[in-house]
Amino acid sequence: MSELRELYQEVILDHNKKPRNFHVMEDANHHADGHNPLCGDNVSVYLQLDNGIIQDISFQGSGCAISKASASLMTSLVKGKTIAEAEVLFNRFHDLVTSSGETEDGEALGKLAVFSGVRDYPARVKCASLPWHTLHAALESEASAVSTE
Ligand code: ZN
Repeated sequence: MSELRELYQEVILDHNKKPRNFHVMEDANHHADGHNPLCGDNVSVYLQLDNGIIQDISFQGSGCAISKASASLMTSLVKGKTIAEAEVLFNRFHDLVTSSGETEDGEALGKLAVFSGVRDYPARVKCASLPWHTLHAALESEASAVSTE
């Protein structure tokens, strides 16, 4: 337990300090904004979907360390995945942070497994889940690239 907690701290700190894929994507063809009023987290997820595959993903926003680390980890996990694979990860992640059982497959989730630590803090579950819900919304959104032209 303390081992997982240490790993949790490590992963959160690392991704918070050096968030992966943290930029606005100008040529995104899917995009969604997420907001968690409880904590004040804002996240925008940008996707480049091609033939049902997430060719590229990035995020931008401001929020607490957990929401930012979760978004960072999420983008590095789903890049190159199909929409179906991303949805499976989304569901697994959701189970991981909300269920109290030991049913989830920690192996398959890799580093995501450290987020099981937020289970004990219900308010934090929303922070950790926000990027995933936003990804979900972006995947379902119509192609609506924000264009300034
Ligand atoms: Zn938060």
